[in-house]
Amino acid sequence: MTDKKLIGVDLGGTTAKFAIMTMDGEIQQRWSIDTDILDEGSHITPDIIESINHHLDLYNMTPADFIGIGMGTPGSVNSKEGTVIGAYNLNWKTTQYLRRDIEAGTHMKLAIDNDANVAALGERWKGAGENQPDVAFVTLGTGVGGGIVADGHLLHGVAGSAGELGHVTVEPHGYECTCGKQGCLETYASATGVVRVARDMAKESDALAVKVVDRVSYYLGLALANVGNMLNPAYIVIGGGVSAAGEFLRKQVEAYFEEFTFPNVKNTTKIRLANLGNVAGVIGAASLALQFDQQ
Ligand code: ZN
Repeated sequence: MTDKKLIGVDLGGTTAKFAIMTMDGEIQQRWSIDTDILDEGSHITPDIIESINHHLDLYNMTPADFIGIGMGTPGSVNSKEGTVIGAYNLNWKTTQYLRRDIEAGTHMKLAIDNDANVAALGERWKGAGENQPDVAFVTLGTGVGGGIVADGHLLHGVAGSAGELGHVTVEPHGYECTCGKQGCLETYASATGVVRVARDMAKESDALAVKVVDRVSYYLGLALANVGNMLNPAYIVIGGGVSAAGEFLRKQVEAYFEEFTFPNVKNTTKIRLANLGNVAGVIGAASLALQFDQQ
């Protein structure tokens, strides 16, 4: 292992977060810029390149001080090609050649993956996953995303859709989902605000709110139990805005998880809350660049 550094970029619809990190995951510098989605998102990549170059100047560093850049982005990511398409919250409607453009603009290597996968990597490496080789991650926010690390490797599947826990069917004839099918976990468990309000009302013993939280917990517990039954990870980590609902939610999800898992999974797979907050993405993104150290 060298003493070279990593750069992490966590691109989102409102901000892009950056970090300079050591190879063992210690953050040395952090900053962020606004994401300018005007003109079909055509400013986003140049802004990222400029911000990286500017901060290297600021810290008296050069590309030779880094192994490379790792980046998480919304949309459908082709990690092998270094491209992304269909990131609608960035106004990116056509294929974006992130690797080609950012490598040319910064003179560093770039690895990319989707935002939920890098958050999973971050929590697995430096957060609630305790660097275990088998960790599943579900993020509950405006949508429901996920990422799965099995035997130390992030799963992608044949077309990059492994770990898309938001579209696990939990109610065969349930609500219609934006993906076109019915009863996806996302249609029940993404209502961040509803859960938070429900939790607050529930503290006052409001019967309806208790039922709402119970139902959301049931669907989450069911979906995560099947993740557990299939993969038997050490931890299933719940992150995203909804994890602010905290132990209250976790306990109820765990109760259903235990109901729907078979004994060996119930006894060995634990449900945890994420603990890195909004730096999980940038830490996990930076970890993508570790692959360049072995090349
Ligand atoms: Zn769906």
